[in-house]
Amino acid sequence: MRRKLVAGNWKMHGSLSRNGELLGQLAAHAGEMACEMLVCPPFPYLAQAQLLLAGSGIGLGAQNLSEHPVGAFTGEVSADMLADFGCRHVLVGHSERRSLFAESDVLVAAKFEAARRAGLVPVLCVGETLAEREAGLTGEVVSRQLLAVLQRTGVAAMRDALVAYEPVWAIGTGRTATPAQAQEVHAAIRSLVAGYDADVAGGLRILYGGSVKPQNALELFGQPDIDGGLIGGAALVAEDFLAICRAAN
Ligand code: 13P
Repeated sequence: MRRKLVAGNWKMHGSLSRNGELLGQLAAHAGEMACEMLVCPPFPYLAQAQLLLAGSGIGLGAQNLSEHPVGAFTGEVSADMLADFGCRHVLVGHSERRSLFAESDVLVAAKFEAARRAGLVPVLCVGETLAEREAGLTGEVVSRQLLAVLQRTGVAAMRDALVAYEPVWAIGTGRTATPAQAQEVHAAIRSLVAGYDADVAGGLRILYGGSVKPQNALELFGQPDIDGGLIGGAALVAEDFLAICRAAN
């Protein structure tokens, strides 16, 4: 039985005062949730979040990391630095990183490996664009993104990692994948990993992301291969994020 996980990707939103309020509200209700909860604030707020989440049971993650362990890489943040601030998780290959910051499959795989080396749990984000879906390429694109990681790290590195399926056309658009569309891709992801190791695939938690809201979370999370969500906009509103977490109970 895979425990559901709901993660909030705050993207480039927040301030000390707004985060304080949001984290306080999340921490106050975390004890009611059966699912695992995770928040991923921007780098400068990791210390604040670490402090405010202490003892709450809510996990802390980052949105990105460097593929390098240390050195002259101005502006970059290493996996060890994230671990220093209490991060257990880190998003890798979010579609905004891939499209706006030109992160290739090869770079994403290197980042996945860097996270693993530092003992962090990578949340590997995959997903197709609208043009790719309309061209019937969804399966091919998602497989390519996954294989880049599997071939670099081996399937063992996938054990207890997370995959997030985020169709690019559903991110921030209000246009959610239907539960059936999402389930189909989630099942394909699991079966691809099962081709390498059935046990790893069976335990792999695959999150759905893309316009998840309190209104559609229950049905999405009711699909057999959807093990939780990666939430953008709705993660910035305490009552919405909490409602989505309750839907994962
Ligand atoms: P939205 O929930 O705002 O569509 O964002 C999804 C996402 O990109 C989470 O990583």
